[in-house]
Amino acid sequence: MAEHESLEFGKADFVLLDNVSMEEFMANLKLRFEKGRIYTYIGEVVVSVNPYRAMNIYGRDVIEQYKGRELYERPPHLFAIADAAYKAMKRRNKDTCIVISGESGAGKTEASKYIMQYIAAITNPNQRAEVERVKNMLLKSNCVLEAFGNAKTNRNDNSSRFGKYMDINFDFKGDPIGGHINNYLLEKVCIALFSSCINDGADFKAVADAMKVIGFTGDEIQTVYKILATILHLGNLTFGVDGDVTLIENTKLVSVLRELLSTKEENVEKALLYRTVATGRDVIEKQHTTQEANYGRDALAKAMYERLFCWIVSRINDVIEVRNYDAKIHGKNTVIGVLDIYGFEIFQNNSFEQFCINYCNEKLQQLFIQLVLKQEQEEYQREGIPWKHIDYFNNQIIVDLVEQQHKGIFAVLDEACMNVGKVTDEVFLQGLNTKLAKHAHYTSRKLSPTDKSLEFDRDFRIRHYAGDVVYSVVGFIDKNKDTLFQDFKRLLYNSSNPVLKAMWPEGKLRITEVTKRPLTAATLFKNSMISLVENLASKEPYYVRCVKPNDVKSPLLFEHERCRHQVEYLGLLENVRVRRAGFANRQTYPRFLQRYKMISEFTWPNHDLPSDKEAVKRLLQGCGFDHDVAYGKTKVFIRTPRTLFSLEEQRAEM
Ligand code: ATP
Ligand code: MG
Repeated sequence: MAEHESLEFGKADFVLLDNVSMEEFMANLKLRFEKGRIYTYIGEVVVSVNPYRAMNIYGRDVIEQYKGRELYERPPHLFAIADAAYKAMKRRNKDTCIVISGESGAGKTEASKYIMQYIAAITNPNQRAEVERVKNMLLKSNCVLEAFGNAKTNRNDNSSRFGKYMDINFDFKGDPIGGHINNYLLEKVCIALFSSCINDGADFKAVADAMKVIGFTGDEIQTVYKILATILHLGNLTFGVDGDVTLIENTKLVSVLRELLSTKEENVEKALLYRTVATGRDVIEKQHTTQEANYGRDALAKAMYERLFCWIVSRINDVIEVRNYDAKIHGKNTVIGVLDIYGFEIFQNNSFEQFCINYCNEKLQQLFIQLVLKQEQEEYQREGIPWKHIDYFNNQIIVDLVEQQHKGIFAVLDEACMNVGKVTDEVFLQGLNTKLAKHAHYTSRKLSPTDKSLEFDRDFRIRHYAGDVVYSVVGFIDKNKDTLFQDFKRLLYNSSNPVLKAMWPEGKLRITEVTKRPLTAATLFKNSMISLVENLASKEPYYVRCVKPNDVKSPLLFEHERCRHQVEYLGLLENVRVRRAGFANRQTYPRFLQRYKMISEFTWPNHDLPSDKEAVKRLLQGCGFDHDVAYGKTKVFIRTPRTLFSLEEQRAEM
């Protein structure tokens, strides 16, 4: 008997709970965690609890146990979901995606690595060199991205400060032939944190080695070092005044920067102290105040880091991109996408970054609702199958609150940033208060004067699907605008280091040629989220929901309240309800027959019944599965996975 059927370890699938209640759900989750069973299903969704200790469940032997198996044949595991996605892709030619979500430190990135590892292990049985190369690149790229994009935070020692979506492309044989990475919002504050990583020589060598394997040239790696050094030195640069002249206090640094950036000393100095402005037809050079100079220096450091990260991603993409695949000869190349993206964040102080991250989670929740809950209900209705309606909270209203044109929070922010004259964060907050005064999910101190948890002229609160979050508007305007002075872009573009120059193509423009405002961070983020969700929606989704058991990284502690909260905002109970009310599998009648007709004398090799529907009925009655299915207008619905597995087995025995 499969291990998951042993009650000692709790229920392997939450669908099998006696009652779907929070208490039972939590009791099962806790029991399994304590028994070292960190994975549990909700149908095809894997719920994972971070064990905070090394588990002996990812080895080659375990991989072999999951390879090609059906989901229910083995204890719940990430490998089973990876295998399901892989099978759907290979057998049915479907693009699939695995969405991994959960809060910081819940285990998303680790999960994504195990999934990648599994896929790498089960593919390319013929050891084709090119496929091996691609696999190696895909795995190595992780190491490089983590080195530049992760940071130690108080929630996670190795926290990803960027969201990552990685497509793996497969050829008609099911072997990986390439991939593509998209990154989302690198939190710029991580520069400060990254510097402590630099100190660790051994780590850095490992990264440089990985970069070499991926195909970064020596010059490129050198430039990466130089950029990192520049960023560090910029942190030490200070400005002073002499009369009304702003000057650089530690002038020695200027020559260091000149060298690192391969440019002239006077260019560095000028870019740090002046900005070029066009007034009508004249172009003048305006001296910074010390405040402006400080601001410019910080913006430069952040922008260089962000640009470096995006450049590294694009270089990796150049290398792993699918080449020479002829779809006409080999058929469609299919994709498995893996999304590892920051979960919901509620900090003591929540700013623009948390706002974007939480908006992203609203979008993903909306996708989940659409795909799993709504679509499911609608399909049953369409197919004329009796269905008990399930109430769930539809968070579209919050998605709209953030992204709607003209009146959403992003629109109000962009509008505030467009204003000429003095734009402040408070002006933005006033804009929100005017536009959103009546919105059920928005409030601020002005709108709720007695609410002391909100600071006047600083805070607003959003009622997210996952709970209330107070955001401070401080810094919203700056973070939203592209505030890097054009002079810096020109400085870097005019470097005699071709690698650096290529990173800053827009530095080519003269001041009079810069007409368009760059898109704001909010708009860029919104657009990238919309296209991410569109992309995911076009694929068959698999979900991994990660839960963080405690805040002290303990392998023993299951903090009930912390976990309950996560279960709630991940919508797991609703998920169980839908699964229980629903059917594990559905197929159109002709498809079903095509796959299983050989197991029944009524249908093999052909049937003489009036319709395919009748033929499927006859087949299932013959096998004794009639009680476990429902017949829709165009599809047959199978309630429990076990029925499906039996059909598969009988088919295999033919
Ligand atoms: P963030 O959103 O901050 O990037 P995350 O969800 O990606 O967080 P991870 O970095 O994957 O979190 O996990 C945090 C830590 O938890 C890991 O460094 C590791 O120590 C531990 N951990 C997570 N998953 C596992 C696992 N399956 N087995 C053992 N340890 C794990
Ligand atoms: Mg992570």
